[in-house]
Amino acid sequence: MKILVINCGSSSLKYQLIDMENESVLAKGLCERIGIDGSLLTHKPAGKDKYEVVSPMPDHKVAVQMVMDALVDPVHGVIKDTSEIAAVGHRVLHGGQYYSDSIIVNDDVKRVIRDCFDLGPLHNPANLIGIEACEAAMPGVPNVAVFDTAFGQSMEEKAYMYAIPYEYYEKYKIRRYGFHGTSHRFVSGEVLKYLNLDPEKGKVIVCHLGNGASISASIGGKCVDTSMGLTPLEGLIMGTRSGDVDPAVLQFICNKEGKDINEMLNILNKKSGILGMSGVSSDFRDVHKARNEGNHQADVALQAFAYRVAKYIGAYTAAMNGVDAIAFTAGVGENDGEMRKEICNYLGYLGIAIDDEANKAQGEAAVISTADSKVKVLAMPTNEELAIARETLTLI
Ligand code: ADP
Repeated sequence: MKILVINCGSSSLKYQLIDMENESVLAKGLCERIGIDGSLLTHKPAGKDKYEVVSPMPDHKVAVQMVMDALVDPVHGVIKDTSEIAAVGHRVLHGGQYYSDSIIVNDDVKRVIRDCFDLGPLHNPANLIGIEACEAAMPGVPNVAVFDTAFGQSMEEKAYMYAIPYEYYEKYKIRRYGFHGTSHRFVSGEVLKYLNLDPEKGKVIVCHLGNGASISASIGGKCVDTSMGLTPLEGLIMGTRSGDVDPAVLQFICNKEGKDINEMLNILNKKSGILGMSGVSSDFRDVHKARNEGNHQADVALQAFAYRVAKYIGAYTAAMNGVDAIAFTAGVGENDGEMRKEICNYLGYLGIAIDDEANKAQGEAAVISTADSKVKVLAMPTNEELAIARETLTLI
């Protein structure tokens, strides 16, 4: 059975066609600059050469049709007919408080995705367009919505409520939702299996450290707390996002520099984090290089990043009254042994010790703590597309 996974952004569409018999990727690709001049489809069929099509994509509907054409192309395609696609799994950013699990799309689901436009203004409209484009291109094929916020729905009120007047929760559902949920759910589940932990009681902290970064605490795979909030801006220091910051900073800079709140949010989302602190780059490899060349700001940015992650690990260990395993995932978490070590250097009080040889692991599942470390520490690759495909398969 073949499942197509679609992840629509406001001007992009990423896809993977996965054969669920062996969970292999048959083809993957990306449509860029949808609705802008210079639209481009890059299609990578497994075992064949990359294929690029430059052709106008005025909207996501055209993009989905181009993906279909690439998948069945006689030379570059991987299937004979789109009827081989059993279902489509869609990454949907925001399901508000409505969905704690994935669901087969019907009119009610589409209404909820629309109702959450305010909460995910850049992504939810694109996600809905992607679903409707697939409905039009493949009538009768089920579409499944996999919500990035679903994992966070098991948090208790004490974890998700902000200490602001209650009326804002009542009126607008202002609360912590958490993001990267598909990744946190997938990785925490993999860790429970990998270490043979109690599937109901295993306490796992997952550090998803990529360009976007977040951390979650879960017991038996159920989220207890997570660092992103109403939006992905809260929590850890990220590639370009500030993470936690005193809200009064916004007013102060607005007043000094004559900026408005929208400009400030743009600065906190796109010009802050590792990029803003280091003044070098949002890419950790560049910042490590600058640090090694003696750049003080780059050094402080990396130190602050590690320190913030370590503080959250301490907080989440307290939230769960203990921790069995800590996993590092995503671009930095899976590859950057130096950063993993720098974070774990704060965790001696938990009886954690890192095995420097094992910590060389890159892009593979590995225990990186020593045999006598009281808490197991792992590198564990995430795979959001596979997680979406598995959820889709389960539902259909
Ligand atoms: P996104 O949030 O865009 O999905 P990724 O999970 O792909 O991000 O992570 C991107 C980040 O991973 C970049 O900052 C990149 O520098 C970092 N990264 C990738 N490989 C390495 C590596 N070998 N060492 C250090 N950082 C790495």
